[in-house]
Amino acid sequence: NIFVLGSFVAACSAKVLTAPRAGESVAAEAFLLEAGGKGFNLAAACRRLESAVDGLFAIGDDALSALAEPALIHAGLPAGMLRRRRGPTGAGVGFISASGETWVAVHAGANMTLGAADARDSGSAIAAADMTIAQFETSDAVIAEAFALARASGRRTLLTPSPFRPIPPAILSATSILCVNRVEAAALAAQLGLPDADDVGALGAALFPHGPEALVVTLGAEGALAALPDGALLIQPAFAVTAVDTLGAGDAFAAGLAVALCEGHGWTQALRRAAACGALVASRFGVFDALPARDAVDAMTQD
Ligand code: ADP
Repeated sequence: NIFVLGSFVAACSAKVLTAPRAGESVAAEAFLLEAGGKGFNLAAACRRLESAVDGLFAIGDDALSALAEPALIHAGLPAGMLRRRRGPTGAGVGFISASGETWVAVHAGANMTLGAADARDSGSAIAAADMTIAQFETSDAVIAEAFALARASGRRTLLTPSPFRPIPPAILSATSILCVNRVEAAALAAQLGLPDADDVGALGAALFPHGPEALVVTLGAEGALAALPDGALLIQPAFAVTAVDTLGAGDAFAAGLAVALCEGHGWTQALRRAAACGALVASRFGVFDALPARDAVDAMTQD
């Protein structure tokens, strides 16, 4: 089973012809308020792939917090994952234009109130999970503590550092698998003092002394690359699909990778299953409804 650390975000999205310019207001063609956040998406994606999921999400005490419990139940996630805090629930505002461009702003709200004590309270669940996974819509303190607890129990951890901020040494040293997209790879290369991020092998070699045992770089429609500690560089082409909305592709890829590795698949097959998850999400509108079921991934990755 997989333990997922925050975040829960109430996500508003408006479909518009073009995003409004400063001072302008435009009519939206459709509006949607739904449960989201990278943590929720990762947890829901793991669950859709039939992994058992536990974890930790914080919500506030405002009207938006009421979205959380029904959304978790609908996703098949345990409502016991929720921690209630004073203040605002994490919230996001997004525009999707007719040509598929997106503009998104996320307020982390309650997600940042998770701290080391919350991780310790979940210590036995973290120690029992095959893998603990986290993203950067929650605090460094809770990630560092949870990852340290997982590693102390001989478990693996996976981090998608998105939205990117420099990865603190306490987190990096307890990260087993680092999964980044092209933009985050460039920021990581800058953090490590490397001139460019295009050489994934060199990026992995610079990264591994700091803790991680594997680096995965996703390249959208160009697929993904993985650098492993034995020096191997694996190349995973993308599956050919008609992309309609790539929002959530990275989350689905990371969840697919985590579930496949926990099921005992080797790296080659795990990357293939992860790429299938990313492609399937990209080929459908939305995130939650687009998350692939296990059967669809099996069918796509059969030889
Ligand atoms: P993020 O959403 O984090 O920016 P990417 O865009 O790199 O992440 O997508 C993650 C993975 O999803 C890619 O490595 C690829 O396997 C898959 N994917 C994304 N976009 C497409 C696409 N247009 N066609 C096929 N697969 C895609």
